[in-house]
Amino acid sequence: MGLDIRIDLPRTEQSDTYDVAIVGAGPSGLTAGIYCARGRRSTVVLERNMAGGQIALTELVENYPGFPDGISGFDLADRMKRQAAQFGAELREITTVASLQPHEDGCFSITTDQESIRSRAVILSPGVEAKRSGIPGEAEFIGRGVSWCATCDGALYKGRTVAVVGGGDAAVEEGLFLTKFADKVYVVHRRDELRAAKIAQERAFANPKMEFVWDSVPRRVVGDQMVEGLEVQNLKTKEVRTLPVNGVFFYIGQIPNTAFLQGVVERDEAGYILTDELMRTSLCGVFACGDARSNPLKQIAMAVGEGALAAVQAQRYLDQLECPLPAAGGQRPAWGGPTVPAASGERPGSGGAGDTPTP
Ligand SMILES: Cc1cc2nc3c(=O)[nH]c(=O)nc-3n(C[C@H](O)[C@H](O)[C@H](O)COP(=O)(O)OP(=O)(O)OC[C@H]3O[C@@H](n4cnc5c(N)ncnc54)[C@H](O)[C@@H]3O)c2cc1C
Repeated sequence: MGLDIRIDLPRTEQSDTYDVAIVGAGPSGLTAGIYCARGRRSTVVLERNMAGGQIALTELVENYPGFPDGISGFDLADRMKRQAAQFGAELREITTVASLQPHEDGCFSITTDQESIRSRAVILSPGVEAKRSGIPGEAEFIGRGVSWCATCDGALYKGRTVAVVGGGDAAVEEGLFLTKFADKVYVVHRRDELRAAKIAQERAFANPKMEFVWDSVPRRVVGDQMVEGLEVQNLKTKEVRTLPVNGVFFYIGQIPNTAFLQGVVERDEAGYILTDELMRTSLCGVFACGDARSNPLKQIAMAVGEGALAAVQAQRYLDQLECPLPAAGGQRPAWGGPTVPAASGERPGSGGAGDTPTP
């Protein structure tokens, strides 16, 4: 069941139009929700699952400032969610956004699997999801030994053997987490060294339950009713062997959840949303933040910072809608949005740092 937190906030102009609609309730979307709602903007946050995003799937977060002993991902997500609700953000969970459409009057329609919502500004924070390897057996054994979430499924492997595929932070940290349950954890990595943070590497190399299968890629998940093995190939020797495992956890990368934005805002070739340094997308009035944005660091601290900036910029944009710039010399963006000064070519929300509103 989705949670529907509604707190009475005055909505400007039309009662059925929100000031800001936020797509995705991970750390970036929830932070944007905190800032917008605290700025007394009517704010709705739309989330296809339960709020929290990827951190809700993370056992322990050790590198987010303010928690020297670490904090469970679930607790951190819950705190962010309560903080957004406390300032008046409406959170609608189990609500998938299917499309975003700009209108001539400057508003946006957001169509979900349940309803259509109108807003005057939009913040996109749909994050990423795990990439599928596409190897035979992967799809067939989902829920029967193939997983992307050690936090969700790790306890099922008490006393058993599992393989983790990948060499980055997620693979190594989730592999370490799995050693709490499994007797043995193979780490299958295509190179001969890990990409994970050094501290995670040190812990992994010191853990007697972890065994590294270097220079190797998965070729096939094998089994009958349940997973019984993972066929791997060494890229240097070409040797193929089957690891006797009961579970396979894939951490081989991510894809952005931006398919619904095709043709709406500009994205890079991998599908990540392109913005300027103020989080403004190619569509006036639409901002983006977090892992779904084309940025160099996919971490909570980054997502939170970008969420704050997107929210402040969205509020600046709304301020200028409420107090339109003089028409003389102005021009209107193609979709019929607010008047913007022609000389600078700036869009609303692009004012100098000195006049940024107090968030
Ligand atoms: C296993 C794992 C461990 C990690 N550990 C750490 C760590 O220790 N420290 C750290 O800093 N980072 C860690 N990260 C990375 C961190 O979780 C992400 O950087 C962060 O969650 C990104 O936040 P976000 O809000 O941009 O996106 P996400 O967390 O991905 O949230 C996006 C949300 O949008 C929702 N959504 C997507 N599409 C739609 C749609 N169409 N309609 C409605 N809702 C939609 C999704 O369901 C999701 O809830 C980890 C990631 C993983 C996978």
